[in-house]
Amino acid sequence: MMESFKPFEIVSGNLSSGLLLLCDHARNTVPVEYGSLGLPESEFRRHIAYDIGAEALTRALAARLSVPAVHSCFSRLLIDPNRGEDDPTIIMRLSDGTVIPGNHPLDETEIQSRIKRFHAPYHAAVEQVLDSMIEAGTAPMIFSIHSFTNAWKGMLRPWQAAILWDNDPRLNRFMIDGLRRDGELKIGDNEPYDGALKNDTMYRHATKRGLAHALLEVRQDLISDVSGVESWAERLAPLLEEANAKPDMHVVRCFGSRTDGSAKKES
Ligand SMILES: [Zn+2]
Repeated sequence: MMESFKPFEIVSGNLSSGLLLLCDHARNTVPVEYGSLGLPESEFRRHIAYDIGAEALTRALAARLSVPAVHSCFSRLLIDPNRGEDDPTIIMRLSDGTVIPGNHPLDETEIQSRIKRFHAPYHAAVEQVLDSMIEAGTAPMIFSIHSFTNAWKGMLRPWQAAILWDNDPRLNRFMIDGLRRDGELKIGDNEPYDGALKNDTMYRHATKRGLAHALLEVRQDLISDVSGVESWAERLAPLLEEANAKPDMHVVRCFGSRTDGSAKKES
């Protein structure tokens, strides 16, 4: 019998708060029948399996602000919730130099089965919470939390954090400017990746619905322990509260998308 594995978790919070937090790459877990996808266990402690620190930061912010959050409970090595169903990289065969034996070869039935069991229920949960929040009276802002590695292909990254975005400047611009007020911080603006990717999480839930949103990436070593998480929650919470108080952040408005399938993204 199929072991029961919950593909997502909803952290409860005030549905009329006007803010929903998302964490696409919260966990490194896969259901027991997938074993370790043929990889050594050590691979599951790396960024290729999940965003280190992102779930803890999401939970810390949800608690401070009394807002709801949705996070996935499956490793992106199984299937990446931040990719469209038609994106060939939705299930990685190779990630950061590591071949994933459990993902190669992969037939269409298995791809569809992973979409149905993990990817679709996560997105349905996000949609359901957004619907409930709109019903509660306020179109919410969406704040999506990720983390990136200190280095990529041998290059050290200069940013402590970054905001990745497509066209809607409302929360994105506000967060970039807000974080840059701390002169000690170097904040990427659509670096190291372009935040425009068709059918990714922000595209499907925020861009298409016309909800103000931002995607944050924090360098993983800065949120890999409790004190790091607390200090980032302390930095972000007042900015999110200030943004949330602006009426414009709760107007449903479509800014369109720069995506035509050519944008590059590796978050
Ligand atoms: Zn991520």
